[in-house]
Amino acid sequence: MALPRTIFDSDHELFRDSARKFFQHEIGPNARRWREQGYCDRDAYRKAGKQGYLLMWADEELGGLELHDLRYEQILIEENARFGDSSLYLNLHSMVVAPYINQLGSAEQRKKYLIPAATGESILAIAMTEPGAGSDLAGMRTRAEDNGDHWLLNGSKTYISNGIQSDVVVVAARTVPDQPYGIGLFIIEAGMQGFERGRKLKKMGLHAQDTSELFFDQLKVPKENVLGDPTKGFSYLTDFLGLERLQIAIAAIAEAQIAFDLTLEFVQQRTAFGRPIGTLQNTRFQLAEMRSQIDAVQCFIDQCVMLGNDAKLTADVAAEAKLVATELQGVVLDKCVQLHGGAGFMEEYQISRMYTDGRVSRIFGGTSEIMKEIIGRSLGLGERKLA
Ligand SMILES: Cc1cc2nc3c(=O)[nH]c(=O)nc-3n(C[C@H](O)[C@H](O)[C@H](O)COP(=O)(O)OP(=O)(O)OC[C@H]3O[C@@H](n4cnc5c(N)ncnc54)[C@H](O)[C@@H]3O)c2cc1C
Repeated sequence: MALPRTIFDSDHELFRDSARKFFQHEIGPNARRWREQGYCDRDAYRKAGKQGYLLMWADEELGGLELHDLRYEQILIEENARFGDSSLYLNLHSMVVAPYINQLGSAEQRKKYLIPAATGESILAIAMTEPGAGSDLAGMRTRAEDNGDHWLLNGSKTYISNGIQSDVVVVAARTVPDQPYGIGLFIIEAGMQGFERGRKLKKMGLHAQDTSELFFDQLKVPKENVLGDPTKGFSYLTDFLGLERLQIAIAAIAEAQIAFDLTLEFVQQRTAFGRPIGTLQNTRFQLAEMRSQIDAVQCFIDQCVMLGNDAKLTADVAAEAKLVATELQGVVLDKCVQLHGGAGFMEEYQISRMYTDGRVSRIFGGTSEIMKEIIGRSLGLGERKLA
């Protein structure tokens, strides 16, 4: 049995019950169709907005619930992982992109962009990565020139989640030519002249996630679309990426737990040599190891959530959370596919889809190697700043 978790109270459990019903009834049944069509229905965002599940932390006047408790966001991520669809990035929208606009934006920007985001009318994305710069964000080439009454944006981004369907994209671009950290953040809206979407990229997993390229060609960005100080974007990214990494860690450990549950059930039913494969010593040992490791990492992630609630989650501890949870997810998924035998390789089995969907966790939001760099540098070992 899994170690009991101690961070939730009865309000959280009630919330989990209703979130579970939402993902079971409104999201899960669409997942197969979404994978086939290559994107999630926009309506999923509207439905989530109607339930109050988007931007829950936002002020009431912006359509939020003023709920400043990461445990509720954690529950949404966990229930979506179990009963919804891992390609539906409600938390990218609510908890990764919208906080940039809320914390760095003006009152007008908050009103203009967050109210439709809270209802799900508008879908948000963030564009940092470029064909030539992912881990090394300070090497980005997309540039924005100050042209007096507007900024002129030129360049391209790639691997952008919600890239095709997004209505509003926070785009990072170089604003100070000779200064690696001289980066600004700009709010780009669908339909702006000079803003084009590229290919919807074909991926090994997450088939319902519309990950794409974006292009900016002589795009005139009004001055009122700058977020915060246009030269401080790099330190904004450094500050905000910690919360993004915690969310990836929450999803990763939830997915490890789901894979474990599916496999435990499978090995009790599947027989070989006249007995359930679960009674073989190897199976028992594999599951025992996974059980212990998932319990240990889940405790750590829950503790990080509580630190986040107290605004005490540092960038290096968030990097630790992402590192341990996603690495364990990878190990667990691999072992679980193996214990399923040939069925584990068949797309119709959930474990197979989880394996391909889950591979990205060690890559996006900063690779495991970059997480180790961040943790290592926090020990006083190394110089250059990393986002
Ligand atoms: C499905 C998906 C969705 C994504 N969504 C978004 C999004 O919405 N917005 C966005 O901006 N980006 C997004 N990304 C991009 C993602 O964050 C980057 O792919 C990731 O940060 C790695 O960058 P890269 O692909 O350029 O790899 P690279 O930086 O080229 O890395 C290649 C390899 O080199 C290693 N490496 C690089 N530097 C070092 C170092 N200093 N020390 C040791 N090893 C190193 C890496 O760890 C990796 O193993 C997404 C990616 C995917 C796959």
